[in-house]
Amino acid sequence: MLELKGVSKRYGKKEALHDINIQFKTGIYGLLGPNGAGKSTLMNIVSDILEPTAGTVAYEGKEIRKLKEKYRKNIGYLPQRVGYYGDFTAGKTLEYFAVLRGVQKSEIAGRVDSVLEMVHLSEQKNEKVKTFSGGMKQRLGIAVTLVGDPQILIMDEPTVGLDPKERLNFRNLLSHLAEDKTIILSTHIVSDIDSIAKYVILIKEGNIIGFEEREQAAKLIADEEWSSKKDSITLEDVYMYYFNAEAE
Ligand code: ADP
Ligand code: MG
Repeated sequence: MLELKGVSKRYGKKEALHDINIQFKTGIYGLLGPNGAGKSTLMNIVSDILEPTAGTVAYEGKEIRKLKEKYRKNIGYLPQRVGYYGDFTAGKTLEYFAVLRGVQKSEIAGRVDSVLEMVHLSEQKNEKVKTFSGGMKQRLGIAVTLVGDPQILIMDEPTVGLDPKERLNFRNLLSHLAEDKTIILSTHIVSDIDSIAKYVILIKEGNIIGFEEREQAAKLIADEEWSSKKDSITLEDVYMYYFNAEAE
């Protein structure tokens, strides 16, 4: 349903992405790679924020750059860095984004309450965003991406700033949502996607160096000598193998 063909991106002389070809169906896709790998660039392109230098992104067979708003209303994008208006309450913020996303007027209030509940912020509905902790702001960001009930969720390092309990809640929420959505989640933290992703995409220096079902993560390591040293290969092992020094 969502397909990247030959996508490359240059910033001046720097090639941030090189000839990316991926097809996304439903389920959670974990985009895993260290800082500078090209994750945010890829997500900005899939979100139609950034134009690729070469190649195309197509949704249901049509180029997203031609679909414009018809495509954008299907996506919920959580950028890596996001700021909200501090004097707005959580509820007001979500109402604002619901209007932007074209949610019908009669459905806005119900939709706002339902996403607040999903991220466990119902009790803070009438509190101003400037009083929120980092984790609460991040949860509000997640609620913002969900308010239009998009078919595709694109989340760039969504767990940054979340404590362990918030991370667990977030993983549970995503697993639930993934039943009928495409979720693309970038991270450099293996545990964020280890238990929930259906597919793992390894990205390094602008190249996709591995794409596999999570259950088949061992296949990502083709080095027989290395694999034979271990009984079973975890996603953590895969990360260590490719990106060792940067693993957390
Ligand atoms: P990641 O999200 O995986 O950390 P990015 O997509 O942010 O990676 O960056 C990929 C590469 O492109 C990095 O080398 C980064 O320095 C470079 N880059 C990203 N944005 C810009 C920009 N606006 N101008 C120049 N270089 C950039
Ligand atoms: Mg990034």
